[in-house]
Amino acid sequence: MLLEGGCHCGKIRYQLVPETPKVVECNCSICTKKGALHLRAQEGSFKVTQGDGEARLYQAGTKIAKHFFCPQCGTHIFANPKRAPLAFNVNAKTLDRFWELLPQWEKTYFDGRSWEPEGPVPVPSSTPFR
Ligand SMILES: [Zn+2]
Repeated sequence: MLLEGGCHCGKIRYQLVPETPKVVECNCSICTKKGALHLRAQEGSFKVTQGDGEARLYQAGTKIAKHFFCPQCGTHIFANPKRAPLAFNVNAKTLDRFWELLPQWEKTYFDGRSWEPEGPVPVPSSTPFR
């Protein structure tokens, strides 16, 4: 099944053939902050069709995983995950007609929080709103 998607502003567009009809919600620090839902595509089953090379790279921690986002609208589009650096974890929420596709897929959870070598990112003590 060939799927298409892109960032919010349309600068970056892509196509992919998912490995399985399964989305994964990860609870690690960055996936939580991004609000991403992962759909896996293997190497050769994902390609940027518009704005190739435009996506900006973000890396943290061990700097193995590569997180790509649109420099214009800030949408997180895809990542090359730490566990499979040649594969693509596409942010399923950036797919065209995501809300129609979601009910057809199995949804699972990955405990990335326990998997982070540095442990959970500390939460700074907060000042209540006044
Ligand atoms: Zn954009």
